[in-house]
Amino acid sequence: MVSKKSKTGSRHSVSISLIPVALLVLCVMGSIALVAHSAAMRQVSVELEREKHQITQSFHYEAEGLLTSLSRDESLGDLVRSGQSRADIERALGNLARRQMLDYAILVSRNEGVALGEAGEADTLLQRARVAQILIDNSRMRGMEGATIGIGREARVVQDGVSLLTLSTLPIGRNLVLLATRPVTSSTMRRLSTMLAVPNLRMIAGRSTLESSLSIASLDGHSTMSVIWDPAREASDILGELALFGFVGTCLVATVGLILFRRIRRSTEEILRREAQASHEARHDALSGLPNRTVFIDALSENIDDLPHRDHSLAVLLLDLDKFKDVNDTYGHAAGDRVLVEFGARVRPLLRQTDVLARLGGDEFAVLLPSIRSHLDATRLAQAIVDAANRPFVIDGIDMRIGVTVGIAIGPSDGTDSATLLRAADTALYRAKNEGRNRFNLYEHRMNEQERMRKLVDDELRGAIERDELTLVYQPQVHADTGRIASVEALVRWRHPVHGMISPIMFISAAEERGLIVPLGEWVMRRAMRDAARWPKLRVGVNVSAVQFRQKDFVTSVAGVLKECAVQSHQLELELTEGVLVEDADQAQAAMMELRALGVKLALDDFGTGYSSLIYLRRFAFDKIKIDKSFLDQMEATGESAILVHSVVHLGRALGLEVTAEGVETEEQRRFLQAVGCHLLQGYLFSKPISAEQLDELLKVEGDISQAPPRQISAA
Ligand code: C2E
Ligand code: CA
Ligand code: CA
Repeated sequence: MVSKKSKTGSRHSVSISLIPVALLVLCVMGSIALVAHSAAMRQVSVELEREKHQITQSFHYEAEGLLTSLSRDESLGDLVRSGQSRADIERALGNLARRQMLDYAILVSRNEGVALGEAGEADTLLQRARVAQILIDNSRMRGMEGATIGIGREARVVQDGVSLLTLSTLPIGRNLVLLATRPVTSSTMRRLSTMLAVPNLRMIAGRSTLESSLSIASLDGHSTMSVIWDPAREASDILGELALFGFVGTCLVATVGLILFRRIRRSTEEILRREAQASHEARHDALSGLPNRTVFIDALSENIDDLPHRDHSLAVLLLDLDKFKDVNDTYGHAAGDRVLVEFGARVRPLLRQTDVLARLGGDEFAVLLPSIRSHLDATRLAQAIVDAANRPFVIDGIDMRIGVTVGIAIGPSDGTDSATLLRAADTALYRAKNEGRNRFNLYEHRMNEQERMRKLVDDELRGAIERDELTLVYQPQVHADTGRIASVEALVRWRHPVHGMISPIMFISAAEERGLIVPLGEWVMRRAMRDAARWPKLRVGVNVSAVQFRQKDFVTSVAGVLKECAVQSHQLELELTEGVLVEDADQAQAAMMELRALGVKLALDDFGTGYSSLIYLRRFAFDKIKIDKSFLDQMEATGESAILVHSVVHLGRALGLEVTAEGVETEEQRRFLQAVGCHLLQGYLFSKPISAEQLDELLKVEGDISQAPPRQISAA
């Protein structure tokens, strides 16, 4: 869902990022069009100017050509010969006109300003004569003083109102001027048109408003005719070309752009798809398709951060399949994989949409319940999961039976960060496994402490025994009557180099779980007996764990130690708890008989905490009962316990047992216990557990304690 969102988002951003590009392309193309347009216009006007110039030049050459050819005409000399008749002159002019393709020729006397003769087509004579007249008048007006006519060597193209003509005025001798005109014909125009590459060059009457036009002046300054042509390149042509070019270009750019865009989009989509896939793969377990550990921890952290703002709790369930290894080993990994997938599929429907089921790896799964009202929500689910796992898994027709063990931690009570909660759930899981698997267990705070100790014991206890980091302290038990030390209880301590002095409460049960209690117990026994050798008349109580007691060679080992340390067997008093007797009463009874036969004393420890069954007292051969400290504590709180203590002491005495009260801390307790007939008292009131050396000192002070007669234990 997350990746999908980001995917469309990215696609969106891709199309968004294309908008400026498209705008840029448009701007560039617009600018190009503008520049192209102005360039085209400039090009057109430059071209037009060039054409005009060329046409003007060509007319000029045309006129010059006439002038040149006239000058070269050798028969012009005939015209100057004086004394010629007008008829002769006109014949000569006619000849000249034919040769030079003139339409009109006139010989003017410069001095008199009169025509000496003229030649040409009858209908052009008048017209041209008028031209000549104007020419003459013009030259006068131009102030050619003295001479009537000041016409010099001149050639130009003029119009006579009807047609274009090249006009030449050529002085011949001192007093004669030849005026000649030759029509500029349409063929001349065509020739020029071809030569100049100016299409369709032609004359029209009137003034043209066309750009591609030249008006040719007449001699009197009026212009009634124009030369026009088709411009070689019209702006529209250029623009058309440009437009075509632009269109093709745009199409090309657009096509390329489109291709690029599609490529980019496709590759972007491909990248996004791969990214999404990679992120999915990175966040999901390939086999089951379930979220993986990363996702789970992320979700957990997120929900924990949210907890302070909510009024509900969350739960973490760690699931560990039982007997999964058997499935793998027996039916192969493929079957194992299918069991894992099937298990995931069974759990998922038990969850709400917002709950997270993840596979952490191997046969470990985890469930996050982000919102629960009470831990019952979690335990109910855990039970449902256990039930689901207990239904047989049928793979390829084979019934496979597994189970699941679940550890549950509740946030925020068991932890306010993901690491702590996971550790708590793991501790609970460990517990549940220890308690026989295929069940669930809720985390309790103290488990953590135990867990730490279990680890410490795992890692270090064996070494600690070898390195002699353990030590024994002794707590005296005094006669209730005299206050003199009758016996001591050996209590073990672990002097840890880092954690300091560790109480046996912390590590004894862990040592039992880890099978380290036997070497530990043997160490204690040996050390206590070595010390006991120093106090030959003092009984030394040694606590024996049920696990240790159940060892087959326990009695042999005790006998061995006694012998090794040369200690009288009656000096040793084993403190056993009811737990010793519960599991295998017959075996316990047998061992106790053997111990008694050895001469070892037996005390029932912690009386009043367990079953406190009188049957045990009857059946088993104890020498002593030790009333648990909790009795005294309750006695203080409720008067009732006092009666209980009283009757226990009474009962013990009646059974011929020595009765010791533990944990005596106050003078009142001492007085009471003494009054009810308790034999021995042990507690901080008399002494805390002390080292062997301190005990040596204490015994010295007491002086002849060892000489004191053993207390008579009434058998009444
Ligand atoms: P426990 O056998 O009941 O030992 C008596 C405990 O009560 C000792 O604690 C002792 O220090 C404490 N105690 C004695 N007098 C008083 C008092 O007036 N007030 C209070 N509050 N406590 C008092 P410790 O030494 O911590 O031993 C705890 C338990 O550890 C023992 O309980 C015993 O079950 C076990 N333990 C100690 N040493 C060994 C050992 O060598 N082997 C085995 N298997 N267990 C041992
Ligand atoms: Ca004890
Ligand atoms: Ca005890």
